[in-house]
Amino acid sequence: MKHPWIAGKWHKVRRPAIPVVNPATEETIDCIPRGNAEDAEMAVRAARAAFKTWRWMPGVEKAALLHEIARRIRARQPALARLMTLEGGKPFCENRDEVEWSAACFDYYAEIGRHSRGNSIPPVFAHQVNFTIKEPYGVVVAIVPWNYPLLLMAWKVAPALAAGNTVIIKPSSETPLATLALADAFSTLPAGTVNIVTGSGEELGAALIRHPGTDLIAVTGSVETGQRVGALCAEQIKKVHLELGGNDPFIVCSDANLEIASRAACWAAYLNAGQVCTGAKRFYVFDAIADNFTRGIVRFTRSLKLGSGLNPTTDIGPMIHLRQLEDVHARVQDAVGQGARVLCGGRRSPKFKKGFFYEPTVMADVNQDMRLVRTETFGPILPIMRVQGMDEAIEMANDSAYGLGANIYTNNMEWAMKAMERITAGTFWINDPLSDNDAAPFGGMRRTGHSRELGEEGLDEFRETKHVHLDYKQEIKPYWYPYSRYNRLTS
Ligand code: NAD
Repeated sequence: MKHPWIAGKWHKVRRPAIPVVNPATEETIDCIPRGNAEDAEMAVRAARAAFKTWRWMPGVEKAALLHEIARRIRARQPALARLMTLEGGKPFCENRDEVEWSAACFDYYAEIGRHSRGNSIPPVFAHQVNFTIKEPYGVVVAIVPWNYPLLLMAWKVAPALAAGNTVIIKPSSETPLATLALADAFSTLPAGTVNIVTGSGEELGAALIRHPGTDLIAVTGSVETGQRVGALCAEQIKKVHLELGGNDPFIVCSDANLEIASRAACWAAYLNAGQVCTGAKRFYVFDAIADNFTRGIVRFTRSLKLGSGLNPTTDIGPMIHLRQLEDVHARVQDAVGQGARVLCGGRRSPKFKKGFFYEPTVMADVNQDMRLVRTETFGPILPIMRVQGMDEAIEMANDSAYGLGANIYTNNMEWAMKAMERITAGTFWINDPLSDNDAAPFGGMRRTGHSRELGEEGLDEFRETKHVHLDYKQEIKPYWYPYSRYNRLTS
């Protein structure tokens, strides 16, 4: 049984246990406490106390500590990656990448936080000085999903700390272990600067949001979770960052290199068993090349190996839990019932006695109104729709409630730029899906949310702007209030 890590110590609380299950074997690998309002209270107290010192620590010192966190994360890379595979199912090699990206994010914000500069504002009168300073909000609550537990934690915690906030992390109950294993990395900070508590979103998450001692809630999760978290924050008039579900389109134009585009399409659809927010989930293929493209996709999909993420030859691991697998399968069946065809896959793999393995699935004769396409399908499904040209592809891509990312494969600059300008999405990938860059903002439009992580924008999300106005002649300007009776006092 694990325990919450608060004010630099493990707290042995007595709470009901939540099992952490290995999705490849269905075995319970550990348990975490189902934290409640008491845990929230302890964590908030610790974070508030630490905020008094952390916010004033000079930027160079903060930077050194953030670099040290990065170093400690890297030093534990294989062990962390293995733990992430055990609790989340993602192949070990992909988790090694995730650990490295998480460390890199701390390095990035160590530097960005230290070098960030303010701005001066032209004053109205000569003897005035106007400028802005950036201030931390206070205590940030980072609520993290299971699909990229360390990376999405780092995208919140690193900029929040660099901006001078203290943090309470609430990992997903599916994948809390790797985050708890980072307590040692965070112990380089003054006690209470980072705290880790575990429990359900509805109980512990809501207690943290409602607590008057928390100032900013940063959540990555589904649209439904975002709605609930957003509503709670609205009641408190509390700042909230929402990074929610996606349903990214992937357009393949008639001039695309089909060998490259079909491999990229499979990568974008099946990475992490299709459980990626920016995974491609709707494929719009120009009619002229649709048959060739589909053949390539099916051939490549059949060559992918499903299995335990600990096996070095595995391409696709299990899905996170049975609910997720059943949800995806129900969507596939629902589409088939409406005329869609399964070209390969389309079922829970019969090769495994245990584990939540779903075969990578290619589907044709799919349409826009099927639930499979209309709402986010979080699994290894690649649904293909034919389009007659660029205008139709853009229209179909935009026919969505989401706006996280969008992809195109073409060498035609006019098509690429037209699609880029017209498709509503926070990131537009041309001939290279799924790539992130620590220095580039990441986030969604429409119901996917409205904040940005990474880049300088990602730091700004954790800072308030204060305007400073100074008049070194200490003059009250009657001409500034020409109609005010107040002028009688000064003239
Ligand atoms: P989820 O919404 O079920 O849970 C996310 C987190 O929110 C968990 O820690 C959960 O405990 C917490 N939570 C749930 N209800 C809550 C509540 N009422 N109050 C406070 N906290 C609450 O999501 P998930 O299943 O863990 O992750 C998958 C979803 O996340 C998908 O929809 C995916 O697209 C989305 N996602 C989005 C991004 C992005 O950057 N936009 C990145 C990764 C995942």
